[in-house]
Order: sequence, then C-alpha cells, then structure tokens
Amino acid sequence: MVRVRIAPSPTGIPHIGNTRTALYNFLFAKANSGKFILRIEDTDRVRLVPESEKAIYEILRWLGLNWDEEYKQSDRLEIYKKHLRELVDKNFAYEDSGAFRFRMPKIGRTAWVDEIGKKEIIFDNSMQEDFVIIKSDGYPTYNFANVIDDHLMQISHAIRGEEFISSTPKHIQLYNAFGWQLPTFVHLPVILGPDKTKLSKRHGAKSVLDYRDEGYLKEALLNFMVLLGWNPGGNREIISIEEMIKLFDLKDVNTASPIFDVKKLEWMNGVYIRQAKPDELISNIKYQILNIKKNYLDESLIQKLVPLAQTRITTLNDFYDLAFPFLEDQHISLTKEEKEIAERLYRELSILDKWSNEAIFSVFKKFMGSEKVKMSIFYKIFTGKTSGLPLPQTLEILGKEKTLERLKN
Ligand code: GLU
Repeated sequence: MVRVRIAPSPTGIPHIGNTRTALYNFLFAKANSGKFILRIEDTDRVRLVPESEKAIYEILRWLGLNWDEEYKQSDRLEIYKKHLRELVDKNFAYEDSGAFRFRMPKIGRTAWVDEIGKKEIIFDNSMQEDFVIIKSDGYPTYNFANVIDDHLMQISHAIRGEEFISSTPKHIQLYNAFGWQLPTFVHLPVILGPDKTKLSKRHGAKSVLDYRDEGYLKEALLNFMVLLGWNPGGNREIISIEEMIKLFDLKDVNTASPIFDVKKLEWMNGVYIRQAKPDELISNIKYQILNIKKNYLDESLIQKLVPLAQTRITTLNDFYDLAFPFLEDQHISLTKEEKEIAERLYRELSILDKWSNEAIFSVFKKFMGSEKVKMSIFYKIFTGKTSGLPLPQTLEILGKEKTLERLKN
C-alpha cells in the first residue's frame, strides 16, 4: 500500500519548490491507488509564521491537490513524549540542560539507496553528533517528530527535497533505535534558477499565492511544476492532471536539477488560456476581478469582451488591464488635435443608425485615410493607452450610449 505525505512547516508561504514536492507526492499516491497525507509540522515555535498554515491549505485546495488524511504535530505532543521515554529507557537518549539528545553511533557508516537515481548515499558516523530530539520548550525537533509520524502513519515513501539528505542519517538511526522498518527515501533534486544557484526571489520566483493573484491558471502552474524534474518522454509539454496521474512514475524523475524558467510559465499560461472553453475562462476572469482585483463587475459586458481578449492575453490579469480602461472612468489628457478628433468622432458616431463594428470602423477609416490619423490616437481617446482590445468590436459591445458618453467626458 502506497502511503505518502507532505509535511510542510508553516514557516513561510509555500513556493514552487515545496509545492512541486506536494504535486509529486499527490501524483505518486494517485498513480498507485495510495493515500496522500497532509501533516503540518509546526513544532518549531520560533520560526512559525501565523498566516502560512492558512496559505498551505489555500494553495492545496486551489490546485486541487486533495488529501486523504490530515494531522498536525502540535496536537501530538504526548505521542512524542511517550517515544522519548522509550529511548531514554533504552539508553538511546539523555538529558542535556533541559533538552533531550539522541545518542548517535560514532563508528561505522549510515547508508541507504535513494529511489532517485537508485544510488547509494553513505555517511560516515564519525561525522555525526548527538542531536536534540526534544527541546527545552517541550516540543520535539523536526528530526524526531518526522520519524515517529512517518512510522505511525505507515508512510511507505518519504518523498521530499534534496535538502533533507543530510538529515536522513539521523532519521535512519532513530528508526534503528526503535526497531522500525525504514520507508523508501526519495530525495527530489532541488530547483535552480537560470544562473544555476538555488531558486530564490532573486530569480523572480514567487509564492504560489502570488502566481494565483497575478492571474496564472492552476492547470498551467501544475503543468509547469510537474516538468521541473519529470517528463513523460518525448517532447510533450502540455499535460493535463489526469494524464499526469496516468503517466507519473518515480523512475522518470531526473537526477539532475531542473532550471526554473519564468518565460516558460508565461508561455504555458497563454497556451492554457487560448485552449480554455470560453465559459471556463469567463468564470475564471470573473473570479479574478471580484476576489483578487476587488473591482465591480458588469457581468454581461465581461462575458462579451472575454472572447475578444482570449488570443491576446497571457494571464487573467491581462484581461483586466485590457478591458478595464473601457469600463472605468478615466482621466485622460488630450492634446488640442486629439480633442478636435474626439469632438468630430462624437458627431460622426452619433449619426450612425446601425451600431456595428463595420459601421464604427468606417468612421475611423475616414480619419485614417485623408488625415492619416493613427489607430493609436483612437485608443488614446477612449482609454488613455495606445493599444488594446480590437477597438471597433469593443465599442460595438460597449454600446452607442456608453461610447458617446465616454467621448463627451
Ligand atoms: N517539515 C519538513 C519541511 O518543511 C518536512 C521534510 C520532510 O518531508 O521530511 O519540508
């Protein structure tokens, strides 16, 4: 039975690295009809960031990485204390100024075969020291609580970032002291920035909530993340979550570190936006405007404008940036010539009896032909910007009354 877990510490808002770990655990569980467990590792009371626990839940829910069981270590302190007593009784642990330390062997080696690359990783025990398992505040350390919980929760595979390799000898010696079986260790290569150093904010990497708020689609983000260290073979890049579940296999996880490329994420988001069904895109955009941009929503106008924007946007927020100049009152300062054009446009458009994009365009053409007025001037008059959604179609959708009102203003 496959049972895997993610064990986030609520010490910050999850980023692409720990969320990719969550995705791989989820996929591995689903691909093997196993269980995916969420365990909040909140025993480091000093580094606790209050809003990060909420963010962990929010991100997993948004991405649809639904878990089967959930635990929180601060609810389990009695369990760790009980196990401490067992180690003290067996002389594997001792008290050191209010804290308890585990007695590490000092001779020999600690080794395991990691699932990634199937390579043996060996640590010399002479390099190891006795480490704290229960701190003086009574809380267990990561190393101690993590091992006890992985055992009690019957975790079959500990899939986590490569940065935990150096903790694994400690874990293995704890398993041995208790006489427990080891899980399979799976250490995922760390994600690097384009300059081959560990991915960080410097590389433009953000928290996953930031990507959501900037208008990335969850499908695109999942697809982008899954390719950071895994691929289904061939040159395929666009993969749905259903296909990921079918195809995911730990043996296809690369041993080399993946490189984070934000341009690829942008490209991928554009692909997902263009292939979205209009209704889905409309509901995503409505959600974005109401909840993230916290702006009003003229539902029927938005519904009609989205198809005009679909091929022109990379993120959901791009729609907002394109459409809202038409929907909100703007203070636009025009030159004398532009003002004159606006006045004449007002007269020409007001006498149109059929309000269609063809008719509107024929009015523009008059100016463009004899007077060489550029399209960008019309954009400026209506939106203050120099380009945007296709103008005649947008004005048709906006309606004659609103268009004239804007010109008048
Ligand atoms: N609490 C650790 C973290 O923050 C868990 C590491 C592990 O999966 O063992 O990532």
